[in-house]
Order: sequence, then structure tokens, then C-alpha cells
Amino acid sequence: MLPQIKEYEPLNKYTTFKIGGPARYFFEVRDELQLKYTLEFARDKNMPVFIMAGGSNILFADEGYPGVVVKLQFRGVSIDGENVTVASGVNLKELVFLLSRRKLSGMQNLCGIPGSIGGAVFGNAGAFGTEMKDVVKFATALNTETGERKTFSNKEMEFAYRESYFKKNPQWVVVTVLLKLEKVNFNVEKEAQKTLAEREKRHLQDVQAAGSFFKNPQAPEHVIEMFEKDKGVKSRGGRVPAGWLIEKAGLKGFSVGDAQSSLQHPNYIINKGGATASDVLKVKAKIEEEVFKQFQVKLEPEVRVVV
Ligand SMILES: Cc1cc2nc3c(=O)[nH]c(=O)nc-3n(C[C@H](O)[C@H](O)[C@H](O)COP(=O)(O)OP(=O)(O)OC[C@H]3O[C@@H](n4cnc5c(N)ncnc54)[C@H](O)[C@@H]3O)c2cc1C
Repeated sequence: MLPQIKEYEPLNKYTTFKIGGPARYFFEVRDELQLKYTLEFARDKNMPVFIMAGGSNILFADEGYPGVVVKLQFRGVSIDGENVTVASGVNLKELVFLLSRRKLSGMQNLCGIPGSIGGAVFGNAGAFGTEMKDVVKFATALNTETGERKTFSNKEMEFAYRESYFKKNPQWVVVTVLLKLEKVNFNVEKEAQKTLAEREKRHLQDVQAAGSFFKNPQAPEHVIEMFEKDKGVKSRGGRVPAGWLIEKAGLKGFSVGDAQSSLQHPNYIINKGGATASDVLKVKAKIEEEVFKQFQVKLEPEVRVVV
């Protein structure tokens, strides 16, 4: 079956930010065949393609996207002992609960990260000391430019903090992911529930935002010392939390229009209702400027900014 073509489809309907103007063309695709159809469609129209899934880590422009936006809806999970093959559009939280009930351990710390398993591989999503790199054995991906299909090993995916080969080479679309988990005897579901409760305690999860806006940056020695003294904890890998820098720069709660650096978690830029992408970008620019001025630290967005 061919996917339905939508024209001038508002992208704010598909992102957790609830921001974004119309996509010239918009498709929701259920399988690789439908994906290939949309790629050919875009080629015929000589238009750029943007791939999305859960929309939980994207800021689209108010003007929208002047090309073809493809939302992946690939579904399906197959479990063979400790090896689990997952279609890239599967929701991460639903997957963690499904695996938990089968007493498959490894992903319970990731429970509650919004979005899809493919999006999580793309950004090497992580929480509470676990990252996707710890559980992904292989991923099969399709090259949107050449049509090549390739299976990448964990090493070939070049995972690093919120980084992967796919992030550096966005022409590749992850279609399936093979996870390596561990069969255990303890209550994995209870641990997943605990993770959810902990996330809610730290910051509200149903805010209109895209998670942490900036990556936690590498910082000079004097800034690390300041952080460790202030918080009484050790910096991890020479990085300090972006939220701490934003707060210290005096920008916790800073807002432009309805976009605000969250009072609860300053590294979340939240949409209080009517924020535009332009409002968010102004908050972003102010944070980058002040943090650089005060700490000589260059912040880098974690959110994919498509403007
Ligand atoms: C409230 C909240 C809390 C969050 N907490 C966390 C957290 O604790 N840890 C964390 O790491 N992140 C967190 N995030 C960010 C976000 O949930 C993750 O980055 C998530 O993995 C994105 O998945 P997605 O399917 O929504 O991707 P999308 O937002 O749809 O896309 C993000 C990027 O991934 C690419 N992409 C998506 N699917 C594929 C694919 N199959 N193949 C190739 N590229 C693809 C897109 O092109 C885009 O560039 C949070 C977000 C929110 C809103």
C-alpha cells in the first residue's frame, strides 16, 4: 500500500515541543517499501528529505520544512532468547516494559525516555548511567541517497556521549536494531517503574519541550572545580551539567515570549503554550552568549535544530 501524501502538514502536531510550521510534503511510513517510495517521490520533486520518528528531540522552524518530512512508523519486535530485533519506530518505553515482563534486563534505566528506538540509537540516548551503546549489538540502516542497505556493528556505530555514526551521517535511516540483553531472575519491571518515578521526581515529563536542549559540555579546570565545590559531586569525563552553567549564568527561568529556560530543569527550554521556534532560538542564543561570556564554555545543542 502506498503511504498517504499530506501537503502543508503542520509539524507542531508531531513534536513534543508543539512547535513547527508546515512540511511541504509529509508521509507516515510503515515499512521499508513505503520509505523507498517517499525517497523516490522526493527525488522526483528534487526536494530534501527529513526523517523523524517520535519528534521528541527536534525543533522545526516556524516556516516549516520546504521538502519531504518522513515520519517512521516501523513496528515489530522479535525475541530470540537474549537477542531482540526491534523495528526502529517502536516506542522506547513500550519496548522496555515488554522486555521487562520477559525478564530481559539491560534497558530499565532508559525507561521513560520519549521517542523511538531508532531515534535513541541516532542520539545514543541515555539516562541513569546507561546509554544505547550498552545494549545495541547491530543496526541495519538504509542510505537515503544511494539506496544501499548495511548492517553496522556496535563499533561501526561510533557511539559517544549523545553521538553516533548516524548523527554524523544523517543520510542513513536506521530500520532495525538488534539488542543484546540479559535473562535474569529479578523483577525487571519493578526497576523500570522505579526509573519512571525517579524521572518524574527530577522533572515533569509531560512538558512541551525536547528534553535537555544542550549537551553537557567539556569545561576548563577552574569551572570543573567550581562545579565540584558547589555541588559536592565529581564531574564526569571533564563535563559539567549544562543546566548548572545556565543557572550560574543567571538564566534559570529566562524567557522570550512563551519559551522559557525551565525553573525546574534550566537545560530544558519549555514551550509554555504559544512559543514559536524563533522564541526558542532567542532563548538558546542568550544562553550560549552568557555561558560563553561568563565561563568560556561553548554550548552545543543536543536537540536537532531544523531551521
Ligand atoms: C521530556 C523529555 C525527556 C527526555 N529525556 C531524555 C533522556 O533522559 N535522555 C536522552 O538521551 N534523551 C532524552 N530526551 C530526548 C529524546 O527523547 C531522545 O533524543 C529520543 O531518543 C529521540 O527519539 P525520537 O524518536 O523522538 O527522535 P526524533 O525526535 O523524531 O528525531 C531526533 C533525531 O533522530 C533522527 N532519527 C530518528 N529516528 C531515526 C532513525 N530510525 N534513523 C536515523 N535517524 C533517526 C531524526 O532525523 C532527528 O535528527 C527527552 C525528551 C523529552 C521531550
